[in-house]
Amino acid sequence: MKSLLTFFLIVPCLMIPSVWAKPDKVDGENVPFGRLPQEIKNNRYPHTYFPGTEKLGGDEMRIVALGTGMPTQTPSNAAAAFLVELGNGDSFLFDLGTGSTERLSGLEADYSKLDKVFISHLHTDHLGDLAALWVSGWIGGRYKPLHVYGPSGRTKELGIANHVGHIRDAWVWDVSSRAGILPNAGGEIIAHEFDYSKTQVVYEKNGVEVISFPAIHIRDGSVSFRLNWNGLSFVFGGDSVPNKWFLKEAKNADVVVHECFFTPEQWMDIAGFPYKQAYWVTSMIHTPPQGFGKMMSMVKPRLAVAYHYWNHRDIEFEIFEGIRETYGGPLAMAADLTVINVKKDVIEVREVTVNHEAWAQGTSKEWDTAPRGEPATGLMSDWLNEGALEGMNPPPTQPLD
Ligand SMILES: [Zn+2]
Ligand SMILES: [Zn+2]
Repeated sequence: MKSLLTFFLIVPCLMIPSVWAKPDKVDGENVPFGRLPQEIKNNRYPHTYFPGTEKLGGDEMRIVALGTGMPTQTPSNAAAAFLVELGNGDSFLFDLGTGSTERLSGLEADYSKLDKVFISHLHTDHLGDLAALWVSGWIGGRYKPLHVYGPSGRTKELGIANHVGHIRDAWVWDVSSRAGILPNAGGEIIAHEFDYSKTQVVYEKNGVEVISFPAIHIRDGSVSFRLNWNGLSFVFGGDSVPNKWFLKEAKNADVVVHECFFTPEQWMDIAGFPYKQAYWVTSMIHTPPQGFGKMMSMVKPRLAVAYHYWNHRDIEFEIFEGIRETYGGPLAMAADLTVINVKKDVIEVREVTVNHEAWAQGTSKEWDTAPRGEPATGLMSDWLNEGALEGMNPPPTQPLD
């Protein structure tokens, strides 16, 4: 009997070591279990980027388009979101539109690093997955607060702080139910609201600065961003018509992302809008392909990146042709999971290949040992609790204290 008990208690532990659920630590970085990221030498990038297999150079920037589409996301186009990873170990999210967190799981991301989100404006296709990251990142490995940087609005109700406050209130059932089980600090979400009307540094740490500047998009309270680090620059345009602030701040940057919307005729065809409304949306609220091209001809980036349309081939070819009417420079038509590696001497544009059964890489030791309270009790009525059937589940196999 004793040996049988030993078999059931010990052998499963040997067969399924807990390390299987944990990332590996390679040169101080959490990477998916079983991967040994390789250094890219002489700029010889493989044709495809497989998550967790490449070591980011110390002077290199990696940008992944997580979502490149519209408020109505599709299987191939989540809404707007870009991930920027730097050789100093920092990660930044620019917008987090609806559906985009699914791409983070595909990347087998280290959620402990995904604690900074910069929001361009408060449309769902630019921050609809904020609550999803707040909670899923907390479960998936973040043991520190989630910091959300975003613009003010014309009134207090229209700013990011109010929005985040309401997210906190709206998800109280969810978040309070997890208290004590997960690290305390990971359950916090903190808004950093800044004046949308100013060009100013809104983040400065570890050699990285992020500058916000005004954008023109339906109402007061939209911005775009420029990230500077190590002599490299990334500009992220949220939704906007071409404007003077973008022209000034994006000038000569390395990688410049700007929205590139449908033409009015496409929007009539795709969405069934009458011409007047189609023109209003595509050209008065957004930037059509020819406007995107004109802007890039003036900005002259090392690489221009277009997004904010569906990547259906009929649509994309027309958008490409529209851009080429006004811009002949380096161009990437971003799809979800387009990856861009940036160094001083090379910019490499590829696609990520994800395992469709991938999930986040798992929690780290730091997450395991981060301070926790006790699991919440007393959240359920006695009569409800008493409805649980006895003897249904196997008893614990390890001490619970
Ligand atoms: Zn948008
Ligand atoms: Zn918008």
